[in-house]
Amino acid sequence: MSTAMDRPDRIAALLAERELDALLVTDLVNVRWLTGFTGSNGLALVGPGDQRLFLTDFRYLTQSGEQVDDGWQRDIAAEILPAAAVSAGVPEEGGTLRLGFDDVHLSVKDHGTLAARVGAGVELVAAGGLVEQLRLVKDAGELEKIRAAAKLADAALTEVLGRGLAGRTERDVALDLEMTMRKAGAEAVSFPPIVASGTHSALPHAEPRDVEIAAGTLVTIDWGAMLDGYASDCTRTYATGELDPRDQEIYELVLEAQRTSLAAVRAGAGGREVDAVAREIITAAGHGEHFGHGLGHGVGAEVHEGPRLSQRSDSTLAVGQVVTVEPGVYVPGAVGVRIEDLAVVTEDGVEVLTGLPKELQVIG
Ligand code: ZN
Ligand code: ZN
Repeated sequence: MSTAMDRPDRIAALLAERELDALLVTDLVNVRWLTGFTGSNGLALVGPGDQRLFLTDFRYLTQSGEQVDDGWQRDIAAEILPAAAVSAGVPEEGGTLRLGFDDVHLSVKDHGTLAARVGAGVELVAAGGLVEQLRLVKDAGELEKIRAAAKLADAALTEVLGRGLAGRTERDVALDLEMTMRKAGAEAVSFPPIVASGTHSALPHAEPRDVEIAAGTLVTIDWGAMLDGYASDCTRTYATGELDPRDQEIYELVLEAQRTSLAAVRAGAGGREVDAVAREIITAAGHGEHFGHGLGHGVGAEVHEGPRLSQRSDSTLAVGQVVTVEPGVYVPGAVGVRIEDLAVVTEDGVEVLTGLPKELQVIG
């Protein structure tokens, strides 16, 4: 079983595969995942050889001492990127050192700074996504944190629903949900909650409005908590009274697509294949064009990460991956429904981390 402590060694093993001598990790989510550091300025250098260097500035001297795992040499520098370039250094035996950098996250300006400092003995090699590749499969400690985040988010929504939906503004419900999660210990929201009622529910990424939620309509709520560095993500759609048959029918359709595709999540299944299970059900009901997004995404240190479940996905699901399953039907100007669960791929199928019921509930 892998743990946080082997992460630098697993990176080092990947370096050999990619014919890199060292990797510079600059994205702060990746730095935290690799070293434990939660501050706003830090980077990690893995290799060459057994070098494990963590750099931050003076403000984080004490914090990094408490957080950064043993095994990292810790240094303080006013400008950490040039300092890392110098540390990566020209190989002692001569020749060229191949230094991987994160081309997905490093700015053009920072790349220029790095290139100017490393000199002729170092070749900068684009190596974005290397840490993300390891982050795809979660270890037991990570799964425990995601489970806890999901549980906190479930409890917060249950509390908020107890205060009702109809007659409150979307914004009030969203703020209440955010505050309730923070009071329960969430370090942040994983994204600003979506609360979308009536025709606004047809916008998949609706922003909560200062508009009162009507009775007898649908309300889609999409929310998540960040807890101990890990995100949760869930969506439920509620009725605020008796619905017209059209809305009821769309709800039942999305529910069927959600349940069936969730049951298709297993190790070895393709991201495209699982997406197709939901898409076929929705398309057969005549709503294919109203399901314009992918079925789901990975969740971990970030709320949106690999693997993807979509028509364009080339992912194959593996044990220990955490994904959302979130089909939706959005009829412009009319109504929208989305139902989203968070699930872990296990040896024999899935473990669903979302504990809230999915049958249509009426919340007045
Ligand atoms: Zn969501
Ligand atoms: Zn999601």
